[in-house]
Amino acid sequence: MNSLTRTRLPRVPFYEYICSEDTGCEHCREAFTVLQRISDDPLPACPACGSAIRRVISAPNLVGSSASDLKPSKIEQAGFTQYRKIGKGVYEKSAGKGPGIISAD
Ligand SMILES: [Zn+2]
Repeated sequence: MNSLTRTRLPRVPFYEYICSEDTGCEHCREAFTVLQRISDDPLPACPACGSAIRRVISAPNLVGSSASDLKPSKIEQAGFTQYRKIGKGVYEKSAGKGPGIISAD
């Protein structure tokens, strides 16, 4: 057996988070991307300032494709929720379960 064939990295999803409070810092006021294993729990707080954050996009196995290219039906099917930015600090749900609008106000 050649162990070298097993050194490929597992598929690692990127998760996008945004601050769910208006106390966010520069890091989390705009959505930021986190690399996590699927088995990892969602981050509860911004690693930079500790404000509560929420996951806005979960896109396992989609590294390399733009989130805007994802079909909402596919996202929903996979049990994820997608939001798109419609204004400053305002996100509208485009797929999945969750509140229809996330607003920083
Ligand atoms: Zn922050």
